[in-house]
Amino acid sequence: MTLDIQNIRGQFPVLDQEVNGKPLIYLDNAATTQKPKAVLEALSSYYTHDNSNIHRGAHTLADRATRTYEKTRSAVRSFLNSKEEEEIIFTKGTTEGINLVASTFGRKFIKEGDEIIISTLEHHSNIVPWQMLCEEKGAVLKVIPINDKGEILIDEFDKLLTEKTKLVSIVHASNALGTINPIEEVISKAHKIGARVLIDGAQSSAHLEIDVQALDCDFFVMSAHKIYGPTGLGVLYGKREVLEAMPPYQGGGEMIKEVTFDKTTYNEIPFKFEAGTPNIADVIAFQKAIEFVNDLGKSNIRAHEESLLTYAVDKLSNIKGFIPVGTADKKVSVLSFLINGMHPFDVGMMLDASGIAVRTGHHCTQPLMNRFDLEGTVRASFSVYNTKEEVDRLVESVSKIAKLKNK
Ligand code: PMP
Repeated sequence: MTLDIQNIRGQFPVLDQEVNGKPLIYLDNAATTQKPKAVLEALSSYYTHDNSNIHRGAHTLADRATRTYEKTRSAVRSFLNSKEEEEIIFTKGTTEGINLVASTFGRKFIKEGDEIIISTLEHHSNIVPWQMLCEEKGAVLKVIPINDKGEILIDEFDKLLTEKTKLVSIVHASNALGTINPIEEVISKAHKIGARVLIDGAQSSAHLEIDVQALDCDFFVMSAHKIYGPTGLGVLYGKREVLEAMPPYQGGGEMIKEVTFDKTTYNEIPFKFEAGTPNIADVIAFQKAIEFVNDLGKSNIRAHEESLLTYAVDKLSNIKGFIPVGTADKKVSVLSFLINGMHPFDVGMMLDASGIAVRTGHHCTQPLMNRFDLEGTVRASFSVYNTKEEVDRLVESVSKIAKLKNK
């Protein structure tokens, strides 16, 4: 199905504005996507009509809010195809999901001398929690190297896997380079030696079909704001048997069964991991973001974004001084690049002057930037509401900027 992009754009009020006197071209979608009207209206409608704390109230508003909140859990279950709704835990985002696993699974199951494997492509949020855990436990963090295209070296991964490996935590799609990792292979190899696997789905969940049962991953984490939903909200999927074996994360209301001053017993999953009043409004609005993606169809979204990426790479490659960074065979719609002789930040500022929003810097992947001996890159990332005409304007601006230093 060919998507009606103009109609889709009409659902995103934020796109209809000028920046620095030029129509906004928003190409910072890997950092966060814009939100469709349905999400904005759901937020406002919740606070206008339904605002109430959930799960404990006997009154009508509490019941209404609880049911709508839990409907999102059910929508997320089918979005990820988990077996059970109880395996879906709401978090603040990908970062909190990983920290939750590091501090609960890690606390119970990682011991001195154990090994955790990550890859060179990881976002800081899939590096630092494991470093903190390893430091505390005397465990060892190992890193899968990559080639110059930005693809993990699977043979090297094979060598890193030993009977000491307890966890492999790897990104599905790189936010800095766009590389899609062969996670099916990683998961099955890790499982053969009895290690658990966490998939960082922050950048994949908006673009790729996710089926956690088919993947057989033990954990999958994502952020709502990367798929047209609100900020400060995410999902941790975990297999029931693993979640049940893990101790709670935070202590407080909701996560308990019974409290006395002598002893507390804990609630069932998912509530065991959802202490305190959750982000009710954003969870409720997130349902509309999932509907938006489902209505368009991920394969249609992906096809459109891929066509923009291919078109952009073709056109930009003709520009003298344009240097792509990350040229993996399989990519989501992320295009990292440099302009010969120019600092990425300066390029970003000049693009902003033309109304074009891109990200510059290390993209929270400093070790990956070090691998390429770079301080950072310029990153354009495409979403379903971007157009070929916008890519043309990017190309035109990059071409002008490149000419300043590449005669
Ligand atoms: N992992 C990846 C691959 C990401 O792109 C991001 C966000 N840039 C994160 C983790 C962290 O997500 P959040 O800030 O929403 O917790």
